[in-house]
Amino acid sequence: MGREVRRVALDFDWPLNKVWQGFLMPDRFDEEKCPDCTSGYSPQAQNLYDLWYGKLPFDPASTGSTPWRHDSPAVREFAERNLSNAPDFYGTGEAALQREAQRLADHFNSGWLHHLSQEDVDALVEAGRLHDFTHTWSRGAGWQKKEPAVTPTAEQVNEWSLRGFGHDAINASVAIRARCEREGVDDTCSTCGGHASLEKYEGQRAEAEAWEPTGPPEGDGWQLWETVSEGSPVSPVFATADGLATWMSDPARGNRWVPPAAAAKFIADGWAPSFVGTASTGVVSGVEWVGHHADDEK
Ligand SMILES: [Zn+2]
Repeated sequence: MGREVRRVALDFDWPLNKVWQGFLMPDRFDEEKCPDCTSGYSPQAQNLYDLWYGKLPFDPASTGSTPWRHDSPAVREFAERNLSNAPDFYGTGEAALQREAQRLADHFNSGWLHHLSQEDVDALVEAGRLHDFTHTWSRGAGWQKKEPAVTPTAEQVNEWSLRGFGHDAINASVAIRARCEREGVDDTCSTCGGHASLEKYEGQRAEAEAWEPTGPPEGDGWQLWETVSEGSPVSPVFATADGLATWMSDPARGNRWVPPAAAAKFIADGWAPSFVGTASTGVVSGVEWVGHHADDEK
């Protein structure tokens, strides 16, 4: 990420600071939005997704789970943490604690993700998604499967889901698809095949996949580019490296000015990060740093 020198055609005249069109996926590859889904799920799977995150009314009994209460230990612990982190907001004392614990319990009762059934848990274990229970971790050995294999209970997993990071989007997808399979319904939108979009013409998707970015026309010119975006030119095209170096070290460039030696070294190397911080120089432009670096090597 930073700046680089490109050799471009002398008559290359793409606007400065505008991403070179060859680096951007052309609009012609944009597909039509699927009229029947938003994320590629079948209607049944979308319904489960909404239940997972509590976007639709969810009943813990529907998965055989027990509702969380203000005095469930994990809920109370959570409420205690909130109170101690922000006593001015939540208040203090038993009444405040119970009020916050009840609010949390209501929230945790609103989604399937905190009320998995044992079948949901089994599907997650099968997919290797519950390493906290099924594996041990150590530096060096990394994750190792417990022997004999361990299958956590739904109750354990649901309590775990209240702590730390809990379930991620992949867990949601695994649970949703497994439940669709158990219920014998398709998990994928039949209109779009799960893409959530439709080709505007046959073969559009294959063309998009085959597309590769192309650089600007190559030639004898020298030009400075930024690489923080996909890439855009930031200097005029010069016929010589010296021309570009002179431009880079022109005091008229204000705070982007760099010493001539730094510019020359940078052009020779062809690349520099945007900014570099070192003990001896403080934060300097990457181009200037390349120049300092050259001094070190002498
Ligand atoms: Zn669809």
